[in-house]
Amino acid sequence: MILDHRKALVVFSGGQDSTTCLFWAKKHFDEVRALCFRYGQKHEVEVDIARGIAERTGVPFEEKDVHFISQLSSGCSLTDTSIQMDEERRGNLPPNTFVPGRNLFFLSIAAVYAREHGIMNIVTGVSQTDFSGYPDCRDSFIRSLNVALNLAMEEQFVIHTPLMWIDKAETWKLADELGVFDIVRNETLTCYNGIKGDGCGLCPACKLRRHGLEEYLKQRRNY
Ligand code: ZN
Repeated sequence: MILDHRKALVVFSGGQDSTTCLFWAKKHFDEVRALCFRYGQKHEVEVDIARGIAERTGVPFEEKDVHFISQLSSGCSLTDTSIQMDEERRGNLPPNTFVPGRNLFFLSIAAVYAREHGIMNIVTGVSQTDFSGYPDCRDSFIRSLNVALNLAMEEQFVIHTPLMWIDKAETWKLADELGVFDIVRNETLTCYNGIKGDGCGLCPACKLRRHGLEEYLKQRRNY
């Protein structure tokens, strides 16, 4: 399979991070596609939000049903409504918002999809900086998976992680530089309670997002 270095596939959820990555990819590549996963997340409205953003941006959008991922393990508060969400990691353990294998499955499926469409570049919004205990957001994991995927399919995929070493405030700055600050602020869904834009303000995802936003707005005022 000949992979085109001008084409990119974005693993897209409609949240702040992957939406910023979608616009980053549009700036750096000639042809961009978005792939979204329905894995049993509590708020499947995020898939509709993702589709809406992709459509308005003129990016071909596809969703894949991967519910089996959350059926493989129990105890995840993102997919099981009866479990109270952890605010942070529990000792050395990841918080219960961790879905074991999620990024491993997402990126593996994305690579097979990319191969089918002749796409060389795969873009994901994972970040090690705000590392909240998710082992599959670390740079070492992404690098080793990139090697493994290339070996698995005898290909030359390149996984891009534009947010790997920047924090939430810098992610807002990147969105602003890409000219999409308002779209990211108003149209994306990061909140674990399923509220678009600034969200519920109380869940761990909202707190992290708001903290970064306030930090960035403060920096912006000082210039
Ligand atoms: Zn929230």
